[in-house]
Amino acid sequence: MAYPHPNLELRPLGNTGLKLSCVGFGASPLGSVFGPVSEHDAISSVREAFRLGINFFDTSPYYGGTLSEKMLGQGLKALGVPRNEYIVSTKCGRYVEGFDFSAERVTKSIDESLARLQLDYVDILQCHDIEFGSLDQIVNETIPALRKLKEAGKIRFIGITGLPLGVFTYVLDRVPPGAVDVILSYCRYSINDSTLADLLPYLKSKGVGVISASPLAMGLLTENGPPEWHPASPELKSACEAAAAFCKEKGKNISKIAMQYSLSNKDISSVLVGMNSVRQVEENVSAATELATFGKDQETLSEVEAILIPVKNQTWPSGIQQS
Ligand code: NAD
Repeated sequence: MAYPHPNLELRPLGNTGLKLSCVGFGASPLGSVFGPVSEHDAISSVREAFRLGINFFDTSPYYGGTLSEKMLGQGLKALGVPRNEYIVSTKCGRYVEGFDFSAERVTKSIDESLARLQLDYVDILQCHDIEFGSLDQIVNETIPALRKLKEAGKIRFIGITGLPLGVFTYVLDRVPPGAVDVILSYCRYSINDSTLADLLPYLKSKGVGVISASPLAMGLLTENGPPEWHPASPELKSACEAAAAFCKEKGKNISKIAMQYSLSNKDISSVLVGMNSVRQVEENVSAATELATFGKDQETLSEVEAILIPVKNQTWPSGIQQS
């Protein structure tokens, strides 16, 4: 199949030399974590994403108990394009069975992930939600193990992910320069919570690439609302519901306003949004191309921000306390 050359913006990722599409494909929904997704829908979503210019795909063995990696692998294989035309990140250390950031487990984990993804290497391997492990183990054991995987050619770059922003500075202040190439932060650069902004100058000074995930706050900023398991407080959920209803009443879509908010910060290399249908792919790519052409809908954004002021930057606990 031939693909056109669409004009979705590419942005550099820290010092890696990679150029990521500004909209990234979050594959957790392909693990049916936001509701069931058929194999057909999973494969068509990946195909449509690539067709429209998305070159970055993120997954984890944790999503859907390995289902997301398998679905993404099938979708990528079905593209039938050379391997260097897309960028894949997966993760290690978090599994349905629990957390294990030991060198032994993460070294085995990458081989399992590569088999499920049907790939010889991944571009980025990230330690998944490090606030649930010992940060000193991440620094002294996990990252050194990942550096060996890099030397072995199984991964090209190393990343860390988590919700509390303090975990990034803790690790980056302790590893050798260049040992961590990328951070993936989630739910910290969306209309309701923009606390990642304060960390961006520090990350830039370290040459670390920034991926910002969950621009829709894991479903809070959608017309359908969040899944059952969403950890937000009832207050935050109802404020977002009110904002979504306000947009709908006005003939606007809150998801588009939210995507454009996150995409507007060019220090973020890719905004990773979870997608499980061709329609969502098309909507999210349109949000980016319309932003590039017309700019953001500042009037509606200001109105939504006003509704969300009482819950601005409200988050939820994640992980274990570090001593
Ligand atoms: P998200 O904010 O991207 O929201 C996803 C939800 O919004 C899904 O229900 C999806 O079907 C829906 N959606 C997507 N586009 C829509 C549209 N245009 N209109 C209406 N609904 C739409 O949250 P997410 O999926 O959790 O995050 C995105 C990706 O980032 C994940 O898939 C994953 O790859 C990554 N992520 C990583 C971590 C981590 O490493 N700790 C945490 C969260 C997310």
